[in-house]
Amino acid sequence: MGELILQHKEELAMAETLDTGKPLWLSTNVDIPRAAGSYQFFANLISTMGTEAYPMEVGALNYVVRRPIGVVGLINPWNLPLLLLSAKLAPCLAMGNAVVLKPAEWTPLTATLLAGILQEAGIPDGVVNVVHGFGPGSAGEAIARHPGIGAVAFTGETTTGKHIMQAAAGNLKKLSFELGGKNPNIIFADSNLEEVVDTTIRSSFINQGEVCLCGSRVYVEKPVYEQFLEKFTAKTREQRVGDPLEPKTQIGALISRQHLERVEGYVQLARREGGAILTGGGRPSSATRGFFLEPTVITGVNRECRIVREEVFGPVVTVESFASEEEVIERANDTHYGLSASLWTNDARRAFRVAEQIEAGLTWVNTWFLRDPRTPYGGMKESGIGRQGGLFGIDFYSEQSTICLKF
Ligand code: NAD
Repeated sequence: MGELILQHKEELAMAETLDTGKPLWLSTNVDIPRAAGSYQFFANLISTMGTEAYPMEVGALNYVVRRPIGVVGLINPWNLPLLLLSAKLAPCLAMGNAVVLKPAEWTPLTATLLAGILQEAGIPDGVVNVVHGFGPGSAGEAIARHPGIGAVAFTGETTTGKHIMQAAAGNLKKLSFELGGKNPNIIFADSNLEEVVDTTIRSSFINQGEVCLCGSRVYVEKPVYEQFLEKFTAKTREQRVGDPLEPKTQIGALISRQHLERVEGYVQLARREGGAILTGGGRPSSATRGFFLEPTVITGVNRECRIVREEVFGPVVTVESFASEEEVIERANDTHYGLSASLWTNDARRAFRVAEQIEAGLTWVNTWFLRDPRTPYGGMKESGIGRQGGLFGIDFYSEQSTICLKF
């Protein structure tokens, strides 16, 4: 499947861009290759994976076998459609499950194309079932409720996760949730500011800011706050927003009119909350149609403001200053989310000290978006339940059964 996805890369990338509005170079270079990578990674993992065994002094051996769960439901979001779908489907199939998967209603195309690729790869009919539909009262809820489904892996909003949890209670489904985030990006004065600014542009605005791992709360240590803000705002203004098919475009269109209006609503709210919009905040003058929004930098807000507390999921960041390490740790953790964080410092001791105190499933130090597929992936607090990635994903998609054998 991995090979076939790469063979169909152009077609899949175009479909992803037409559905989402993300730049075509991003679909081509990130979404589709990373989707293919999931099948290759899990194919390797299951062919090298062992099992655990515990001999006992009384003369017995315990060993663990993994079995498929049976039928697993996969419910997916619209922001990285094929990539996130594949991150679930690959370990799920590797463990021998049958699957009912639902793409988001906004982005049906790549899942439909994937169904053809599954056939081409020789996956028997009925093993993977692609079902289109909406969430509540429709295909999504049916998957969450169905008594024949033993587990559901869901990526999407935190509130949706709560609905799915209720619907899934009927037969106590096993659940894996990857939910929303409000990720802090902490910049200490001793970091390399040029590098920080470049990466912060990416971590704030890539994929129109519609990535759950994007940093949306930027905290900058006081001595470099003004300098950072000046450089960051200037670079933000240089970002090219426009036609996703144009190779020079850096920021494409948001997923829908409804979502654009929601994100704009947050910018207006920030203004009412006393925030200053340093750049962006509106639709670019060059775009007469389409759901485009300029990348937006907001200051003058604080932790009481909804713009700092709620997930916006668009090209919008707030920037605040901080005075001390203790203070920034406390502010970074003052959220019901706990998905990811990034932290910039050249002081190794501080890096260890702060990273271990941040309440996040994944913390980057002096980088962003670097992912090793062997490591656990998932969120703390209301950002998720359980972990995916490597053997952690294999754990979720299998039932482990201990066999105790007396000699
Ligand atoms: P969403 O929750 O609105 O929808 C996700 C999926 O759930 C869709 O397929 C939808 O049809 C379905 N759905 C909606 N209501 C349902 C219900 N009651 N029962 C069953 N299914 C239902 O999320 P979205 O708007 O598509 O995606 C954006 C959200 O996803 C953001 O909050 C973002 O942070 C989150 N996200 C998280 C991660 C992560 O790894 N933690 C990754 C990507 C996106």
